[in-house]
Amino acid sequence: MNAVVGRDDLLLLTLDTLRYDVARESAAAGLLPHLTARLPGGVWEKRHAPGNFTYASHHAMFAGFLPTPAAPGPHPRLFAARFAGSESTAERTFVFDEPDLVTALAARGYHTACIGGVGFFNKRGALGNVLPGLFAESHWEPEFSVASPTSFEAQVACAERVVAALDADRPLFLFVNASALHQPNWFHLPGATREAGDTRTTHAAALAYIDRHVGRLFDVMRSRRRCFAVVCSDHGTAYGDDGYTGHRLGHESVWTVPYGHFFLEPPA
Ligand SMILES: [Zn+2]
Repeated sequence: MNAVVGRDDLLLLTLDTLRYDVARESAAAGLLPHLTARLPGGVWEKRHAPGNFTYASHHAMFAGFLPTPAAPGPHPRLFAARFAGSESTAERTFVFDEPDLVTALAARGYHTACIGGVGFFNKRGALGNVLPGLFAESHWEPEFSVASPTSFEAQVACAERVVAALDADRPLFLFVNASALHQPNWFHLPGATREAGDTRTTHAAALAYIDRHVGRLFDVMRSRRRCFAVVCSDHGTAYGDDGYTGHRLGHESVWTVPYGHFFLEPPA
């Protein structure tokens, strides 16, 4: 990663709340053609989330603690703030002295842009400004929110505007927090009702909705130069599993997340 930083554009796409089991089953069933075309081997990697809700998990990820492979480690990290005794900092890790990855990339000439989705990125009030405030440019609109049935396509259109407005020579770190998986998501399943509510099935329908538009995001991010992309969930969520509902709780449905990283090559 220390060779990638400074050479390639970077994309971090968090599919907020996406469960690993739903992601794996959807990929295996052929319901995610655009994502599986990019994922190494066409499959999601099983990982453990660095936090059990959005705020905790994104703070950790922005400090270099992406989801951890779900097997005994240590596992070398892609990005790490310098600190003595880190067992997951390896020779190829991009190590920085700044407190977080966003600031570190800005210090190396990157334009940093955030396209928010869930409430912790809504820039309404002090708390909703903490995470977007790390970035040079940040966007949030009600259409990007959990309540919007067209959230992801609106976020992708915003990404296209961010790229179009940027000097072609300037490297870009784009972060997108997709809100479509987060409850409520029932409206992504044709025929579903508010009364029937959110289920693993409507969760899967929301993921298929993301897949239908994610190709546009990948295309705009590879339009300038090669792009290194990380696509993952920040935490899962429970739909009655062992009696649990939601997240910010310690259950396997919350702690286990899908992950993938890959290069997006520019058009020949
Ligand atoms: Zn989240």
